[in-house]
Amino acid sequence: MEPGPLHRSGPLRYQRPARAQEDREEMVCQTILLHQYRSDKFADLRELWGDVMIRFEPFPIVISGNNRDDLLYEWWLLEKQIDPDAQKPGNLNEIERKPSVGPEAQKYEKAICEALLRVAKHKAGRQVLAATFSLPADLYILPVGERDKVMLPEGEFVGECYSLIPHISLTNRDDKVPPIKVTPENPKGCRLSETNKRLSKLDDLESTLVHEMVHAARPKAEYLKKIKTGDVWDDLEEFFSIIVENIYRSERRDLLLRGGHDSSVLPKEQTTSEGFMKDATLRERIKKVFKHEPLAQKLGRFKEIRFNPFSLV
Ligand SMILES: [Zn+2]
Repeated sequence: MEPGPLHRSGPLRYQRPARAQEDREEMVCQTILLHQYRSDKFADLRELWGDVMIRFEPFPIVISGNNRDDLLYEWWLLEKQIDPDAQKPGNLNEIERKPSVGPEAQKYEKAICEALLRVAKHKAGRQVLAATFSLPADLYILPVGERDKVMLPEGEFVGECYSLIPHISLTNRDDKVPPIKVTPENPKGCRLSETNKRLSKLDDLESTLVHEMVHAARPKAEYLKKIKTGDVWDDLEEFFSIIVENIYRSERRDLLLRGGHDSSVLPKEQTTSEGFMKDATLRERIKKVFKHEPLAQKLGRFKEIRFNPFSLV
């Protein structure tokens, strides 16, 4: 079989809109075309499937609905049952970042990019997005798949929901910038348990993206991760990401804020900067994070946001 555009690995060409070049503040969901894709040979295909991958200009963020690595991985798992010596495909981390075509991939890319555009409408969201400018390589946003499932810690989620936990990819320890793994819609099955119902109230794609981008924009940051809190916040890295997520929610005028790295909701009296800082333990954590993280210091300037404990340091 003639290899199709999916199997080619030619250089990607970015179509930069003139406006984005003039003004770095202009944010666009810019489609990326494979250079082969622009030839007549694939004209029909392009008409049929549209473009491949999206670059969220002007940020180094690439969105791809590619899940071929997961399909190949699943295939290999099945094959192994028949033939225990079946070879595992070796380049899954590479395959994961290749452009993909098809309505599913397109739907995914559009949903994520539209959510990022909504994130960018808020000051806190823009500040988090801007933090990605210092990344040494592109940050990929990819769907959660079979391969991720086996890397995730057991016990928190079950069944179908297992593969849906948004997270920073753990599949390749050598990644300079590990991708964000997120699946926009949870199937109904994941909302049945009480925990998941509560979580789903607090669960929206924009806040999830903000949270994961806080982790992703600082790929080598380990300092906060090492400081365990011994409570619902788990560690200072999660504490930091959830606080930023809450600042974003609060700017958006949400009244319901997260109260930990689980399904906890913040008590009403703690949903303002002052209220939150009354708690001595939380105040100490805020100070520690603020001192260590430039993003926290930048966010601290937005004193007008109702919940923004960084503004009181
Ligand atoms: Zn997190």
